[in-house]
Amino acid sequence: MRDAPPTIDQIRRAPKVLLHDHLDGGLRPATVVDLAAAHGYTALPTTDPDELARWFVEDRPRHDLVRYLAGFTHTVAVMQHEDALRRVATECVEDLVADGVVYAEVRFAPELHTEAGLSLDAVVEATLQGFADGTAKAAADGTPIVVRALLTAMRSAARSLEIAELAVRYRDLGVAGFDVAGPEAGYPPTRHLDAFQLVKQENFHATLHAGEAFGLPSIWEALQWCNAERLGHGVRIVDDIASEADGSVRLGRLASYVRDRRIPLELCPTSNVHTGAAPSLAEHPIGLLRRLQFRVTLNTDNRLMSGVTLSSEMERCCEAFGWEWGDLAWLSINAMKSAFYPFDDRLALINGVIKPGFASLAAQSAFRVSASLG
Ligand SMILES: [Zn+2]
Repeated sequence: MRDAPPTIDQIRRAPKVLLHDHLDGGLRPATVVDLAAAHGYTALPTTDPDELARWFVEDRPRHDLVRYLAGFTHTVAVMQHEDALRRVATECVEDLVADGVVYAEVRFAPELHTEAGLSLDAVVEATLQGFADGTAKAAADGTPIVVRALLTAMRSAARSLEIAELAVRYRDLGVAGFDVAGPEAGYPPTRHLDAFQLVKQENFHATLHAGEAFGLPSIWEALQWCNAERLGHGVRIVDDIASEADGSVRLGRLASYVRDRRIPLELCPTSNVHTGAAPSLAEHPIGLLRRLQFRVTLNTDNRLMSGVTLSSEMERCCEAFGWEWGDLAWLSINAMKSAFYPFDDRLALINGVIKPGFASLAAQSAFRVSASLG
């Protein structure tokens, strides 16, 4: 007999792992209003926090990446000072803790936060301080979380080597890796080869936004030229998977490589629906990729702009694909295995926190089902 599907409240209590979350995509609406007032930013569509919250959701465009990105104009505009970055980073940790996340890698692009004169180093230091404040409070509250930063370079700009050097410089102070993001079409990742070579030569970590809106060439370049260890999205790998008439599937060489090498896919289904990369959640390739046992991880991308949490994303996938506790535990262990975090520390979190946490919730859930049947 099938167990009852996990509820959102239960999922929130599960020890989850988040690898793909943008700091400037996850602010609290009230904080956007406060920071705009504090720093004289007058272009917000409204200064009422509730209305602003609705604006981000209502304006949440369907199937349009350009309009989806418009919301970032406001969040980035209020993240130009040290106090703002520190506060946003602290609140990010608080919000992830409230959602039951135990390990997170949160990314941001330092070059977007220098308009008021901050140096790249100052941006990174203020943000890391915010993460440290948040994690210290969480530990004191008995809800520990590990948060690491990923430094993103913009693929349409030309500062990637500088950002890669910055990431390496702060590697022992909370930065776990390097990323490149931004429009894929017209900006192949090979424009940033020197940055990826530096990361490789420093024995450091890189993930890369690839295969979100653009297809297989972007994924191939990310893996075979840029040495990306994970794919930010990577969802278009389905373009290399053919369905046969008898219902079986055939993997092309690139899809086989990704699956055989256990390359993690940082999938963000709701975000893909909003940007037009997938028609609906039910039709999102994450269901197929999970069935085919790719190294799937589940992520939020932009909690504010998409109106999601990691828990809500899990709940929606349970509805869409019939996933159960075993699937959610598998995703979380996949993510922890794929983290840019030392091996022994990953093992400690998997065996000491994630597996027991999911096992306990699944057992409680099964008990409640059998009790109600009795
Ligand atoms: Zn992203």
